[in-house]
Amino acid sequence: MAKKGRVFSGIRPTGRAHLGNYLGAIQNYVALQDEYECIYCIVDLHALTTVEDTINLRQNTYEMALDLLAAGIRPEETILFVQSHVPQVTELHTILSMVTPLGKLTDLPTFKEKVRQNPNNVNYGLVGYPVLMSADIALYKTDVVPVGIDQAPHLEFARETVRSFNYRYNTNVLKEAAMKTTEVPKVLGIDGKEKMSKSLDNHIEIAATPEETLQRVMMMVTDPQRIRRQDPGNPDVCNVFSLHKIFTPKEDVEMINVECRRAGIGCVDCKKRFAANLNKALEPFRTRRAELASQPDRVMAILEDGARRARAIAEETMKEVRAAVQLP
Ligand code: ADP
Repeated sequence: MAKKGRVFSGIRPTGRAHLGNYLGAIQNYVALQDEYECIYCIVDLHALTTVEDTINLRQNTYEMALDLLAAGIRPEETILFVQSHVPQVTELHTILSMVTPLGKLTDLPTFKEKVRQNPNNVNYGLVGYPVLMSADIALYKTDVVPVGIDQAPHLEFARETVRSFNYRYNTNVLKEAAMKTTEVPKVLGIDGKEKMSKSLDNHIEIAATPEETLQRVMMMVTDPQRIRRQDPGNPDVCNVFSLHKIFTPKEDVEMINVECRRAGIGCVDCKKRFAANLNKALEPFRTRRAELASQPDRVMAILEDGARRARAIAEETMKEVRAAVQLP
């Protein structure tokens, strides 16, 4: 079947994938393979913008490859690779930085948030994070970028950067990409407040053991107004309930909806049910992941092959970019 176009997305190897990554992005990575030519990248250079101690970087990169492959990335057709294995992206990043007003970067809400989270590590690379992301997207002449909603400002930025480049150099070499979110574009963390994120440590890893999963689920904040077991709860404001809707059979969701409102079911019981359903849904993924983990050479070979294929596309684009910029 002829493919509709090209998909690209990146994920940072700052730890193993969590439920937010999975529901917000990885599910689309997998689904889009049926209709698009897909390229997925473990963005280790992006991770360097916030990670100072790189002792776990290689291991995390490998773990993320396991997560993506076990989730259903098919490396025979899809390109899966590590960002730093394609050096062309740093060249395009430098070129795109020349068409990027600095104020636009420092105004981005994502940048301001990172500064708030980590005021002692506001490095030059962190400011340029969206430029590097624009370079990645543009390098592969991407049509569609599957991401969570938190990435919307970066996607808009990437589109504007491409327009600025094409205008400045009077060319149409680079392409504007569209964003694609899933039905769950923002998953909240176990705190029930902030976006689920590794850096906030409010996440549930999809590769966790059933016991670890249960432990994390039991920590989840539910309806804050429901203090005692006999208080009626409000599922409409409960993060556990919103996840039940994804992982729990419909009849049970309806039962919880009714029983919570009249204190017929307590939060502890509700969470245990959720953890059991989540563990059940993730079981095939965890089995595949364990199988892959027993073949590290195969995983490394997949990443090497992916990098080789990605470099070929990247170099073609860079030839056109260098010509447009009049670089010798
Ligand atoms: P993190 O924010 O945990 O460090 P990344 O920045 O590497 O994760 O994000 C990888 C992908 O997962 C991106 O497409 C991002 O939009 C998506 N994503 C991350 N967290 C969430 C979330 N809580 N809900 C939905 N999507 C998310």
